[in-house]
Amino acid sequence: MRRGFLITTLSLLLVLGALFPESVWAFDTPPAEDDRPAVHVVAAGETLFSIARRYGVDATTLAQLNALPNPRQIYAGETLLLPLPEGYPRADWQSHTLALAESFGLLAQRSGFDWLTLARANRVLTPERVTLGQSILLPPQETPLTLHVASAGETRLTLALRQDLPYWQLAHYNPAPLYAGATWVAPGTATSSSLPYPITSLVLGPQPVTRGEATVLTLETAELADCSITYLDQTEPCYRQDSTHLFAFVSLSPMLDSGEYTVGLTVTYNGSEIALALPLIVAPGRFGYERIDVSGALSQLTDPSLMETERNALDAVADLRTQQRFWEAPLDFPVQAAISSYFGSRRSYGGSYNSYHSGVDFRAGTGTPVHAPAAGRVVLAQKLAVRGNAIMVDHGWGLITGYWHLSQIDVAVGDWVTRGQVIGRVGSTGLSTGSHLHWEMWVDAKPINPLQWVEPFFPFPPAISAEVIPAPE
Ligand SMILES: [Zn+2]
Repeated sequence: MRRGFLITTLSLLLVLGALFPESVWAFDTPPAEDDRPAVHVVAAGETLFSIARRYGVDATTLAQLNALPNPRQIYAGETLLLPLPEGYPRADWQSHTLALAESFGLLAQRSGFDWLTLARANRVLTPERVTLGQSILLPPQETPLTLHVASAGETRLTLALRQDLPYWQLAHYNPAPLYAGATWVAPGTATSSSLPYPITSLVLGPQPVTRGEATVLTLETAELADCSITYLDQTEPCYRQDSTHLFAFVSLSPMLDSGEYTVGLTVTYNGSEIALALPLIVAPGRFGYERIDVSGALSQLTDPSLMETERNALDAVADLRTQQRFWEAPLDFPVQAAISSYFGSRRSYGGSYNSYHSGVDFRAGTGTPVHAPAAGRVVLAQKLAVRGNAIMVDHGWGLITGYWHLSQIDVAVGDWVTRGQVIGRVGSTGLSTGSHLHWEMWVDAKPINPLQWVEPFFPFPPAISAEVIPAPE
């Protein structure tokens, strides 16, 4: 009887072996649950079943988790959520409603989880799109966490030994390896004095930041201090909100490679100086491709040297770091109209896709009023070859906006404008194939996506108080 069973099993294996290719049987051992990544990006040739097998999970669970209408249809590049490990502490997590100036990254830092884990627990695929008022599940805050700064030579292992914590727990709170100046958290009740004096709190967020957008450094100090940040070989000033709050912007080109970068922070106070390095995660984002066909008299405006000369002239005007802030976040839209082209689209004027769209286009009829999205001072108001009738406004703290192809300019250089004031009229002057408003924005002299700044959850505080990590009790 027993022998008969063995023979049946063996012949079944032989039949299965003949039916399925060898690779089916020769897969690697799936990773342990705790080592399983949060998400899997589908590669060419993969199926839901091969992915499920790779991680040692059930294909049906995977299909349900990702709400796949047809498990046979997954595509390369698609991001799939992987199941939470057994015993994942989600049942006791509490709902938190996202408040003004809170970001997913900030909540993750407070909760002691990396954003990816928090995103997975909340089934959030794009944390940067989490909106004001949205509910997020967070672990209960029974364990107070303290923010520390790593010294040279310190590793997670040496810190775990010093803090008398299991290594896995420290690695759980600090998923990336440490380096001198990096911030790290550990359970504990020490005061924020673990941050180097005079810093009492420090946030660089939201993160990850999408290419072509800006993220904000928020710094609170115990006494009057100044600061500057250095990233991608450039140094930018911090802007002062009041005697203890400073802000700086990291604004990223849409052409930058996604990945991990470092932001250096230098704080000077009372004749002393401290320096920290903060991690910056840059997400790729999505950009379209646009082929623009121009003909006749317009085609001479696509001459690269003419375009570059005008571009450089405008960048020089936008190269301002006005120390006062005149704007309030979020900004208004300059016109109420449909968007016809987004920021960062790769563009070709008959040749290769070697440039990108440096603003947002709104389709609107000639004569439609253009409103200032925030208060500021006019720094350019003139007719240009490529951009037609153009206006630029300085809103302070390095924020400049531009308005191209206008049919009419209603302001002059030096004018102060208020939020909502009509500054000009939509048109189709310059290199334009139809009536529209091109809206451009610079932060610290770099063009970035204006739409980030009209979103209700733009991570900037209202006029008075600054949002900071609360000092642990
Ligand atoms: Zn445009």
